Amino acid sequence: MITRKKIIAGNWKMNKTSADGVALVRDIVAAVGKQADVEVVVCPPFTGLEAAGKALEGSNVRLGAQNMHHEAAGAFTGEVSAPMLRAIFTTHVILGHSERRLYFGETDETVNRKLLAALKNQLRPIFCVGETLAERESGATLKVVQTQVERGLEGVGKDHAPSVTVAYEPVWALGTGKVATTEQAQEVHAFIRGLLVKLFGEPAAQKVRILYGGSMKPSNAPELLAQKDIDGGLIGGAALEARSFVELVNAAAAAR
Ligand code: PEP
Repeated sequence: MITRKKIIAGNWKMNKTSADGVALVRDIVAAVGKQADVEVVVCPPFTGLEAAGKALEGSNVRLGAQNMHHEAAGAFTGEVSAPMLRAIFTTHVILGHSERRLYFGETDETVNRKLLAALKNQLRPIFCVGETLAERESGATLKVVQTQVERGLEGVGKDHAPSVTVAYEPVWALGTGKVATTEQAQEVHAFIRGLLVKLFGEPAAQKVRILYGGSMKPSNAPELLAQKDIDGGLIGGAALEARSFVELVNAAAAAR
């Protein structure tokens, strides 16, 4: 049986100045910087990436961006490319977050282009999918997730599949305090695993980590992380304070 190393990734969104980010990273590193059983990732805004990267040097904590453009360079005002992220030792990148889909017009197609560009540049995508409340209430959850997964991963070869992490984030649970029940989450995670098996075959699909995201916090994490197909968490609000983020890392270590 394959054991997948759990991931706890903090999505800071548009929070923290560079200096505030460094202070947070220092606290995280002091508490779990040597943690080897869980992959710990922090994702500051672009302005804080380089300084956060320096603050986590020598630790096991990894650096992630929250977005990128699919082209390597060019006339794309306001954008940042994969080679630029790599040059400051970024290892992960969140792609297709529902806030980017909702507020910045990202589509399955643009997310797919970014994902392929990330893999080409040895960046590990944290690829977000998830349904809105209206979609869940109309019974469309699995169909919506299937379309996002299949379109987002188009053109990814099975050798690259294990470098992708999927994050299932029900939109109605993001920042709302409403968390999916463990049954709701595990159902969708198992469904995603099945899609990955169809796309990449069993061995590669079993290596892909599938994270849950949506109001995960220390009180609800142990039960979620104990589920067979929940391989960690993408954390918003609870990633902005060292104490709750570190507790989540410890919960993931205990759930191995
Ligand atoms: C997110 O938006 O990626 C997220 C997981 O947010 P929160 O934990 O605040 O619900």
